[in-house]
Amino acid sequence: MTAQLFVVATPIGHLDDMSFRAIETLKSVDLIAAEDTRQSIQLLKHFNIQTPLTACHDHNESHKIETLIEKMIAGQSIALISDAGTPLISDPGFKLVRAAQAHDIKVTPVPGACAAIAALSAVGLPSDRFSFQGFLPSKSTQRIAELERLKHETQTLIFYEAPHRILASLKDMASVFGADRYIGFAREITKTFETIKKMPLHQLIEFVEQDHHQQKGEIVLVVAGKTDITDVTDAKLDEIMQRLLQDLSVKAAAQVATDLFGIKKKVAYQRALELMQQNDE
Ligand code: SAM
Repeated sequence: MTAQLFVVATPIGHLDDMSFRAIETLKSVDLIAAEDTRQSIQLLKHFNIQTPLTACHDHNESHKIETLIEKMIAGQSIALISDAGTPLISDPGFKLVRAAQAHDIKVTPVPGACAAIAALSAVGLPSDRFSFQGFLPSKSTQRIAELERLKHETQTLIFYEAPHRILASLKDMASVFGADRYIGFAREITKTFETIKKMPLHQLIEFVEQDHHQQKGEIVLVVAGKTDITDVTDAKLDEIMQRLLQDLSVKAAAQVATDLFGIKKKVAYQRALELMQQNDE
């Protein structure tokens, strides 16, 4: 068989998320190139995979590539894995994949867990169009500049964030996107203390501030795009509802608000009723 480079996804927490194909591939290749060999040894032991390991991380990727390419040209197949999830997704591997392609070596993905996609699949924000942003800059000035660049983006935005920066980043997001913008918070996905929430930014800040456990572990933030239907503030809804009530019945106004903003019909009806009563007083 001609040598190949396999890009193999591994679990982001729960080991049962390892695919049969990932195990088979890691057992069958000649060499596994891992981001952190000490970390990967644990995973390989768990699945009784005895393939030799070599380190391939951000600091040695450039000069390691040459050796790995030579091995593949000589007929050895290699699997690339990262510490968790899908290689290349905020993880090393891009240069190796590009070099393999340049040498006409077949690159085969072995898909599996990815924290960004797992978060998007469960937080309940629009998923038809989204933009993965990786990690935001660690310094607030640069982070705010980056958020400013994204503030009019209509697609759902996905960020990875380090736990010690979570509050600072959420506060910067609230100041740039507005505290009412909806955000999904996915922490410790597939692990024992998994937290999946969706709420306006100001509520999430309060939640994270009050519960220090939420400032630990691994976190994905999924931010609603600017035009997301759930992104209407109470004040804006009242303003629009008042205008609708000038020409429509409570029921009809509530229906229009539901259609426009995706809010629950019951909630829209209740609010329309309250406003109508206030207007009559
Ligand atoms: N390649 C990985 C993937 O496919 O998701 C991502 C690697 S990146 C270096 C690590 C970041 O991914 C963490 O800081 C966190 O933002 C996110 N992450 C990884 N595992 C996670 C988990 N179980 N729960 C929530 N976020 C996770």
